[in-house]
Amino acid sequence: MNFSFAVLQRDPTGARRGQLSTPHGVIETPVFMPVGTAATVKALTQDALEELGATIILANTYHLYLRPGHELIRKLGGLHTFMSWKNAILTDSGGYQVFSLSDLRKITDEGVRFRSHLDGSEHLLTPEKAAEIQLALGSDIAMVLDECIETPAPRNIAEAALKRTTQWARRARQYFLDSTSGNGKLQQWQFGIVQGATFPDLRRESACQLLELDFPGYAVGGLAVGEPHEVTCEMTAEVTALLPHGRPRYLMGVGRPEQLPDYVARGIDMMDCVLPTRAARHACLYTSEGRVLIKNARYIEDQRPIDPNCSCRVCRRYTRAYLRHLFAAGEITAAILATHHNVSFYLDIMRQIREAITFGHLANFASELRARYSAGPA
Ligand SMILES: [Zn+2]
Repeated sequence: MNFSFAVLQRDPTGARRGQLSTPHGVIETPVFMPVGTAATVKALTQDALEELGATIILANTYHLYLRPGHELIRKLGGLHTFMSWKNAILTDSGGYQVFSLSDLRKITDEGVRFRSHLDGSEHLLTPEKAAEIQLALGSDIAMVLDECIETPAPRNIAEAALKRTTQWARRARQYFLDSTSGNGKLQQWQFGIVQGATFPDLRRESACQLLELDFPGYAVGGLAVGEPHEVTCEMTAEVTALLPHGRPRYLMGVGRPEQLPDYVARGIDMMDCVLPTRAARHACLYTSEGRVLIKNARYIEDQRPIDPNCSCRVCRRYTRAYLRHLFAAGEITAAILATHHNVSFYLDIMRQIREAITFGHLANFASELRARYSAGPA
């Protein structure tokens, strides 16, 4: 099977229900992609991810490039084989981690020179290199290298980053097309990333420039980095209004459970976030009734499941009191059970969102979810 995307249904909000076909299976959209940074979703086995119905996960190019190295992964059969994951994988470009984790040396038009956060070794990440690494990893969807800036950004900084992002996207696209032409069946889709900080006109300009490069899908980057939720939604809508109807749109790095329907309502098909997995390891559980901070003393004798409305393996079997004890005792099982539930909860919300789109009820679903979250935990 090769790549395709089709919008099957629309909701009055503008939300889309669709299907993204990849060589590693069909993905029902809108979809949430759990983050598997170093070729593992922290605290979850691939068996558990399959059981939870994850059809696509994200892996981080920066981490895999530094350790164990993309050439080793290529030699061992690619990322799917290496980590024994039969469903789809999206890899980021590595840019975001270079900008946020490494000892950044210098950004030039050529690329980003940085020091590894692991051993201090020096590396140069260029648009071509980021594309080459992702081809070696063999992910289903690869992202182009973009320039990430701190927010809030002054207009001149945002303009310069946008200009460079377009130049880098052009080079990445060219490298990708040169490397993959004549290979017969296409093994990877490459997405462009729209930047432009919180300036509507820059967002539109970035989108228009990338459209000329004819990517099979487009991401909205540089959002949900501290700006108000309304601004994230507004910038997203500016961009999706310009993107081609028949191609997938990916909003990078979002979001909180009650915000997911808002992004979908702006025409977003794909999202990813470390929140459900990271929060789980910090004893923060997401439930249908709001957040449960399970270390709280109020749960010492609480014999209810984490979420009475959740049918995941953890909620069917264990009590809040037991989870609280595991966290208090520093047991690694605490992270495993909490992560299992949180990822289950996120994927379940996405199922409900897709169903709501089918019935044209997404606006209702979004306001109900928001109300339950503002009401707080049971
Ligand atoms: Zn559960």
